[in-house]
Amino acid sequence: MVVFECVACGAALTVPLRQVDRPDHGDRQVGNGIRNMPALMEPGTYAAGSGQILLAPGDVRGMVWIPEQFDGYCCGLDAHAVPNLACECGQQVATRVDDCSLWQVVMLRAGAVRPAGDPEPVADWEAFDWSQALRDDTDLWWHHRLAASAEVALAQVVAAAGMPLTMPDGPLADVFRQPLGELLPDGPRAMTLALAGPGLAAGADVLLVPRHPQTGEAWEVEGTVVPISAELWRWLACTDEQPVIPATGGRWPYLDEDPLPRRPERLLLNSWLQ
Ligand SMILES: [Zn+2]
Repeated sequence: MVVFECVACGAALTVPLRQVDRPDHGDRQVGNGIRNMPALMEPGTYAAGSGQILLAPGDVRGMVWIPEQFDGYCCGLDAHAVPNLACECGQQVATRVDDCSLWQVVMLRAGAVRPAGDPEPVADWEAFDWSQALRDDTDLWWHHRLAASAEVALAQVVAAAGMPLTMPDGPLADVFRQPLGELLPDGPRAMTLALAGPGLAAGADVLLVPRHPQTGEAWEVEGTVVPISAELWRWLACTDEQPVIPATGGRWPYLDEDPLPRRPERLLLNSWLQ
């Protein structure tokens, strides 16, 4: 576990954290004016990338607001890359985002903090459960996370293929067949698209492989690969249909649909193609 310190004074600015893969949905707005968005990061975790370190707001320690640099103000704070949190020594170290429709997050400035402590050892691929698509049926936000990951994957697949793609029926085709059919040019030749990863060996021209949940590194396999989030990969690899209503009651977040879908086949239609 590592604790991030202020480079100016050495004060601890976070609780001990373990690294996870950077989520695809961090910069995606959800709807318009949705209050009480959840935290982007799980408690006790951080993700690095693009000069920022992302963590849950509740994992911050020893910071003070910089009120003159607040931005946002619909229902909370927005980002625009302006620090609104400082170490108690005055060093500007982070930006908190919690405005409506935005995933709540604190973004540490990489140059203003440094890690202290020993990182968690990297777990083997087999240490993770790849057989369950939905790990927590009280989680009502999976649809938005998966939609963002599917959008990222779609762009990468289009870049990797450049010609029509065929794929087996199932979750993979439910999510990608229609948008790929609209985005890739017709032609006399076609390539194949399939999943490959833990417990799933497949041969195809383009392979969707999972990113390691800790490091973000791609599953290693021969061929042209498109690394996707571990969460999206699990969903695509799990052919079981999900329940229409969560076991705990309540409603899934896509309730304007009639009939209700049992799989997220409309992920891209909802968020990208329209
Ligand atoms: Zn400081």
